[in-house]
Amino acid sequence: MNPLETRLQHLERILAISHELVSNRSLADILQQIIHAATALTDCETASILLVDESTSVLRFIAATLHQDRLIQFPVPIENSIAGAAFASAQPILTNTPQTDARYYSPIAEMLNYPARSLLAVPLKFQDRQIGVLEAENKKEGREFDAGDAQALTALAVQAAIAIENARQVVQYKQLAQSEQSQHQWADALRQASAALNSTLDYDQVIDRILEQVGQVILSDTSNVMMIEAGDIARVFRGRGYDRFGTADTLTATTLNIAAADSLQTMRATRQPLIIPDVTQDPTWIHTRPEHAWIRSYIGAPILIADQVVGFLNVNNARLNAYDRTDAERLQTFACHAAIAIENARLYQQAQQEIAERIKAEAELRRHRDHLEEIVKERTAELQRLAITDPLTGVFNRRHLFILGEQALEQARRYHHSLAALLIDLDHFKQINDQYGHASGDQALKKSAECLQQNLRAADILGRYGGEEFVVLMPETDLATARQAAARLCEGIRALRIETERGPLHFTASIGVVAMDHTRDATIDTLIQRADRAMYTAKQAGRNRVFSEPVTDL
Ligand code: GH3
Ligand code: MG
Ligand code: MG
Repeated sequence: MNPLETRLQHLERILAISHELVSNRSLADILQQIIHAATALTDCETASILLVDESTSVLRFIAATLHQDRLIQFPVPIENSIAGAAFASAQPILTNTPQTDARYYSPIAEMLNYPARSLLAVPLKFQDRQIGVLEAENKKEGREFDAGDAQALTALAVQAAIAIENARQVVQYKQLAQSEQSQHQWADALRQASAALNSTLDYDQVIDRILEQVGQVILSDTSNVMMIEAGDIARVFRGRGYDRFGTADTLTATTLNIAAADSLQTMRATRQPLIIPDVTQDPTWIHTRPEHAWIRSYIGAPILIADQVVGFLNVNNARLNAYDRTDAERLQTFACHAAIAIENARLYQQAQQEIAERIKAEAELRRHRDHLEEIVKERTAELQRLAITDPLTGVFNRRHLFILGEQALEQARRYHHSLAALLIDLDHFKQINDQYGHASGDQALKKSAECLQQNLRAADILGRYGGEEFVVLMPETDLATARQAAARLCEGIRALRIETERGPLHFTASIGVVAMDHTRDATIDTLIQRADRAMYTAKQAGRNRVFSEPVTDL
């Protein structure tokens, strides 16, 4: 084949290859494809793609080659390699004595057992940027690369660089899109977590929402918040996802002794989140209960309030190795939120409790005060009653009789009503005392007062005027009516019978009756004095009778 024909063939192959390379494939597929194309194009045993390793600060290649039809990758120094020289000079290097070249990097060839007899290295450039080297190696003796091969490989390198960059960008884009999406979710979850904090001061609700938000961002089978109790016990406070395992109802019975639980102990000591990629490989892992033996990987974060670890935010997964550093950082952020919520809710509850206690104390004071007031009221009423009552007979005393009398008189005067007055004096009371004893005399006075009271109307005013003398004031009562009433009272007293040690006691009364004279009776005194005079007349007339002024006695 003449060189022109060969060139044409090369171009056709490259065209076919470039077509395949643009199709959307993984970087590994593309590398493999380029290697195949390079070996076919330059008719050699092996080809490698050496790409600048951007993951480290050390300048080196990651070389990819096919070994027994498998893509293997290994690092190659840029200095001390022919590929590195091609990279540095940005020019192809063709050598048919590579092993004598000082720059030849032999370890790989030794490892893979194909020392190169002939070597062709062309730089891989994307736009103005050098991204690596495409290398073809010939193991067969007598077979050497020529300028045509160099030209063909250079042409392939252009296509290869584009394909590699494309694939990288797709990967980057995918990663970017993925991280953007997860960033988006994260921002959303954080926003909702803080919204949850502001929306309620209910402890349980806030914790539930935080667990919900954790679930949005960190995939898990179950998650829970544990709080540290006295005695170094961590108890599950709230949980999420436990319904499936039948432990939702009894979750708060789940406890761990912190001293015995290495994971909790560690988080408490370091104040950092903890990832356990495989709990089955962790001899310190404790399954809190048999229903949770499915847990394979775990991530936890301490909950810190005022620099104290007060609890833990725990996330469990049935999958091995489910969590990475990003999850740990995020979980810690949620743990901070949980801490704020817990502290807020605690302060709120405390304030509520204090208020409730104050209200209770105030109610107690008020009750006490009401009770005292009641007692004072009763005492005052009693004192008032005593102040106006005659202690022996229970009727109004003389002082109060006069107060009520003045009021009644004023009332009668103002409305031109009648007012009658009776003066009742027990007959021969001195003798009664002498004969039956003073105590029986007292008894007679009491009974007399009772009898008078029983025979009077509610509006009538009965008072003890003196020793054995009573006064009755009868508002809106004319003389005739008052006289009738007096006769009834006189009869009542006469009918009284008191049993004494010295036999039954009977006695009588003399009663003087007068009606108010609007022109003469300026005070209650004058009215009563007139009644007294009438009573005296009754006495003189023989006692045990009623005398009224100005009418004659009955
Ligand atoms: P009369 O009125 O019928 O003329 O005779 P009298 O004996 O009732 O008259 P007097 O006014 O002289 O006596 C009243 C007596 O009433 C004198 C007193 O011993 C008695 N007396 C007054 N107050 C009380 C009292 O609270 N208890 C008792 N037991 N007797 C009293
Ligand atoms: Mg008297
Ligand atoms: Mg008397």
